[in-house]
Amino acid sequence: MSIRYLIPENLLRDLLKEVSDGLPGIITGWIWAEWRDSFAIVKGFQVTPSKTKVTEHIRPKSWMRRKKSKIFTMRKMKKDLNTDIIWEFHSHPDGNENLHDVDTKILNYLSTGVMIIATENNLVGWYYDKRESKKPIVEKMVFEVISE
Ligand SMILES: [Zn+2]
Repeated sequence: MSIRYLIPENLLRDLLKEVSDGLPGIITGWIWAEWRDSFAIVKGFQVTPSKTKVTEHIRPKSWMRRKKSKIFTMRKMKKDLNTDIIWEFHSHPDGNENLHDVDTKILNYLSTGVMIIATENNLVGWYYDKRESKKPIVEKMVFEVISE
């Protein structure tokens, strides 16, 4: 059974606007979604406020802290929002939908996870899992737009 990823049109529009407004900087944040059978439906998103404008991918100073903070935030948001799924997202101001080298390194450190990339025009997810194989499984998550 394959999973389908759905996002309401208005949410996608608002998210892509945040990406454009943030240019040339990278915006980061969280997306939440709920399961309905084999559908994961996006219910909302939140941009993490940032004092400094970051325009380049930065390698985490501490990989362990990066992992702990991600797990902590995801658990807290799942509970607070009473939702099934929390995904981390960030924007690629250059419009590249592929994982950056730093993104891959982070996923590799986490062993498994999802990283969502937002460009000005599109939202793409990457599912990564290297828990049971030497060569990681990397799957692209294509979002289907729905009108609500
Ligand atoms: Zn990236």
